[in-house]
Amino acid sequence: EIDPNSDAAIAAKVEPRPIEEIGAKLGVPAEALFRYGHDKAKIALGFARHAEARAGGKLILVTAINPTPAGEGKTTTTIGLGDALARAGKKVAIALREPSLGPVFGSKGGATGGGHSQIIPMQDINLHFTGDFHAISAAHNLLAAAIDNHVYWGNALDIDTRRISWRRVVDLNDRALRNVIVGLGGPANGFPREDGFDITVASEVMAIFCLARSLEDLEERLGRMVVAQNRARQPVTAGELKITGSMAALLRDAFQPNLVQTLEGTPALVHGGPFANIAHGCNSVMATRTALGLADYVVTEAGFGADLGAEKFLDIKCRQAGLAPSAVVIVATVRALKMHGGVAQKDLGPENVTAVKRGAGNLVRHIENMTAFGVPVVVAINRFTSDTPDEIAAIEAACAAVGARVHPCSHWADGSAGAMNLAEDVIRLADAPSDFRLLYESGLPLVQKIEAIAQRIYRAAGVSAEPAALRKLTDFEAMGYGELPVCMAKTQYSFSADPTWRGTPEGFILPIRDVRLSAGAGFVVALCGDVMTMPGLPSHPAAENIFVDESGFIGGLS
Ligand code: ADP
Ligand code: MG
Repeated sequence: EIDPNSDAAIAAKVEPRPIEEIGAKLGVPAEALFRYGHDKAKIALGFARHAEARAGGKLILVTAINPTPAGEGKTTTTIGLGDALARAGKKVAIALREPSLGPVFGSKGGATGGGHSQIIPMQDINLHFTGDFHAISAAHNLLAAAIDNHVYWGNALDIDTRRISWRRVVDLNDRALRNVIVGLGGPANGFPREDGFDITVASEVMAIFCLARSLEDLEERLGRMVVAQNRARQPVTAGELKITGSMAALLRDAFQPNLVQTLEGTPALVHGGPFANIAHGCNSVMATRTALGLADYVVTEAGFGADLGAEKFLDIKCRQAGLAPSAVVIVATVRALKMHGGVAQKDLGPENVTAVKRGAGNLVRHIENMTAFGVPVVVAINRFTSDTPDEIAAIEAACAAVGARVHPCSHWADGSAGAMNLAEDVIRLADAPSDFRLLYESGLPLVQKIEAIAQRIYRAAGVSAEPAALRKLTDFEAMGYGELPVCMAKTQYSFSADPTWRGTPEGFILPIRDVRLSAGAGFVVALCGDVMTMPGLPSHPAAENIFVDESGFIGGLS
């Protein structure tokens, strides 16, 4: 039985418009669209490059409070706001990440929004889509094969096989692959060594794919990736293995932004999808800049909460891609703020205004942080049907107390009509001049960049880095990587490194356990704890609910 209120069922009621019609809304001619069926297309690279070179639209970033298991709805709100801007008569494009099969079959589910704010065809986008992630996996694994092959044929680069950091990838959650031995079976099969798999979205190739400005830039970045150390402990790069031309060739078609539509026919560019912990967590620069060249307003999303996702969007993506947002929307929900106010997930049902008030501190801190970037901020309350008027009023009062603009929105239930108040305000704010500034200068020493983020965004009292991590930071600077921004790998659930510490943690010392160089992506990763680069499946994965019927309808995706 198909649940009529499920995302898949709501989406199935809408007949998608031919993709040429969606392209035409942005002035993309049919000959610049490579169609995948009738409702998906890639925008030809030549056309996209022409568009991105004149990126002139206003960029609106959607971010959120610290996530809780109660859900926030950033993607849903990005889509709802995009539809509402279109309804207000604006030329608009949405820019989003492509979903990974890991969460689709794991616990989080898909990433195409929900209710009446969705992008379609949701089944296709959540599954193979246009094959980009397969291409990225192939490019990544080609490099892995080249490393073992290089060792097999004499190891001219003197690679220390105990110090190969380049792992293999697959775009699924599969904990059994986290640590493996490769090269078993005797001399004809190479040298046995410890290896492992990450999920494709954790690959540095994915991060590069999403930050590169051109195919040339893509290949140069691939060449800079450090894949191993040699016996003298010097870095060995992908460029030295001479296969980055092949990797770029595998990625050529994928590098073209994908075009789809919302349930209301608003154009959406859905392209790339790096992790938000060891990478920066936003869709490709190619898609964002192309959208900005084609539309007057572009709504995009950053992963996780504003402490991680928005900070990286601004300090990494905007810094590298020469972008400046015109407005920031912070998504909050009554349910999540209740959890920040100390309520357990099982007790979220009954009204609890006191808890909302207490939890609103988390929202207020994100408002202050985003305002410090010099960009106008507006709060969107993503309404759930269980919210009560007094709970909504409590959030409005907390925002009013710090002079923040706030709009309750019902786009999940009502589509664009439910977010018109938000859209009107965003138009006004985005059209006014703003004064975007990065959190830190590129020239600041790496350790001080980490301190700036820890103290000014997380409100830590200080940072305590392992001596080995500090030595590595000094090494990176000596190697010429001191100008890079820092990519924090911290839990998304808390301002602190402790995922159970909701609300407004303060006075803590942020631990830096290790640091890693992503020389191709162009950032230094600071690890504040264990980061999962190959998630496992839960006891009852979402994969148990997905089915396909005789007509070909795929249900159970959300
Ligand atoms: P995020 O981008 O913040 O991870 P999503 O927008 O993907 O969140 O939403 C997560 C889930 O929550 C989706 O399945 C979506 O359908 C659901 N959801 C979002 N907003 C609402 C809402 N207002 N009411 C009920 N469910 C919602
Ligand atoms: Mg999302």
